[in-house]
Amino acid sequence: MLGLMQDYPLLTHTILDHGALNHGERELVTRSVEGPIRRCTLAELRSRALRVAKALEREGVKLGDRVATMAWNTERHVETWYGVMGLGAICHTLNPRLFAEQLDYIINHAEDDIVFVDLTFVPVLEALKQRLGTVRKYVVLTDGAHMPNTSLPNAVAYEDWIAEVDDDFSWKHFDENTAAALCYTSGTTGNPKGVLYSHRSNVLHALMANQPDVFGLRSEDSLLAIVPMFHANAWALAFSVPAAGAKMVMPGAGMDGASIYELLDSERVTATAAVPTVWLGLLQYLEQTGKKLPYLKRVVVGGAACPPMMIRKFELDYDVELIHGWGMTEMSPIGTTGNMKHATSILDREAQLKLKEKQGRTPYLVEMKVVDDDGKEIPRDGKSAGHLLVKGPCVSKGYYRLEDSVLTADGWFDTGDIANIDELGFMQITDRDKDVIKSGGEWISSIDVENAAVGCPGVAEAAVIGLPHPKWTERPLLIIKRDDGSAVDADEVLAYLDGKIAKWWMPNDVVFVDEIPHTATGKIQKMELRKQFKDFQFSN
Ligand code: AMP
Repeated sequence: MLGLMQDYPLLTHTILDHGALNHGERELVTRSVEGPIRRCTLAELRSRALRVAKALEREGVKLGDRVATMAWNTERHVETWYGVMGLGAICHTLNPRLFAEQLDYIINHAEDDIVFVDLTFVPVLEALKQRLGTVRKYVVLTDGAHMPNTSLPNAVAYEDWIAEVDDDFSWKHFDENTAAALCYTSGTTGNPKGVLYSHRSNVLHALMANQPDVFGLRSEDSLLAIVPMFHANAWALAFSVPAAGAKMVMPGAGMDGASIYELLDSERVTATAAVPTVWLGLLQYLEQTGKKLPYLKRVVVGGAACPPMMIRKFELDYDVELIHGWGMTEMSPIGTTGNMKHATSILDREAQLKLKEKQGRTPYLVEMKVVDDDGKEIPRDGKSAGHLLVKGPCVSKGYYRLEDSVLTADGWFDTGDIANIDELGFMQITDRDKDVIKSGGEWISSIDVENAAVGCPGVAEAAVIGLPHPKWTERPLLIIKRDDGSAVDADEVLAYLDGKIAKWWMPNDVVFVDEIPHTATGKIQKMELRKQFKDFQFSN
């Protein structure tokens, strides 16, 4: 027997309708790509999103068509997301930091029809335009006055284009499992793979994000959405903020410490989220200027391991609660957050700060387990590490236009991360499976060694890779980028590490480089480093 409840499909535009009706006065504030700060309300944003949908329909875009965006976090980008999805088309976010060949591949693979592009990235697409055969039109996210003289075919200024229609448009009706958004993961090997979110997964994920023990957004909050909308679904923020009725602040292209600080201060931001590199920039700026963070209450750090010193700085020096999160594009992306729980509230501050170094625990709607090489579950003892598998309604089961399922026989998704889970459910990532260092039959956690090394004065960034060793199979090499002006040497770094990591984890050598290579989503390219140092000989 079926229940007698209404059939109410979970569609992304229902979030915007709710936000605009109940929090219509709430502001969205953008540092525009053109320069000045722009403001609009949630009600205005909905009206403009409806115009985007109407204008797209007039262009002939229909259910299931792919419409791409290559843009910073701005209110125009949010409007475009809702407009595209509310029409039943699929919003494909392009990461402008990808290489030209990768962009070429994914735009053609997705068969994008129309592309919305920020002024900054017009030259990127101009250089590629000949190869983008499926793209009919380019909408430049600006007004007529700032429209560049571009060679992009059928280019039009966004403001002129939506001014041709009114907002008298009804969102389309379709099944909640309809595809809503497409985001390619920039793997370090092979072609990028398309993660295809549905309306249902996006709505459930927004609700999940707004649980008190996840990001816990409330209508009183002012949220600075730094994590880019082109990376991992912007950690749900374009959906979870309007769902909560909070104020949304967007940095546009200004990601440096000074620009971020200015918005935190002027918009009285209470919560924010970004990868560790952005926070390093802000912390440096605060140290140089002596400024404080009087309004900020919570900062979410994820996308890469949060260095322990960052946890201590935010919590102890600036009195800001730090929430360490882990996830991945394939998980929409939230997997775990490191909020304290009842059983940890009795711990002293030091023990809690230490616990925050772990990636955290799962919210309802994410299941997680760690298994050995044979797929057998490993006990939750906080020590035994293995392959981290996940499951849930916001986790991928396949990739766009790739036939095969990517799940294990019993329906789990292998994250490619190596982790342990403790008795209280806190998970700790120790490595990516392809980056793991196997020494004398045991694993060395490159993340732990890197985390310890970046605490050493004079070290800006650290990467650890495993290289072949005649006796131990592999041993760790520590690669360091120094702070500007620092002359820290190998002996000083090793002396600093002494006592902070297990003795047998001690890197056999330390080398210094001018730059550590990163992927388009800001992760250290270990493959590249392994290539660079493949002929390196350990001195011991
Ligand atoms: P992406 O899909 O680009 O967001 O990358 C996801 C991957 O980033 C994960 O599988 C992890 O390897 C890594 N990652 C994300 N968050 C963290 C974190 N807090 N600590 C360590 N690694 C992380």
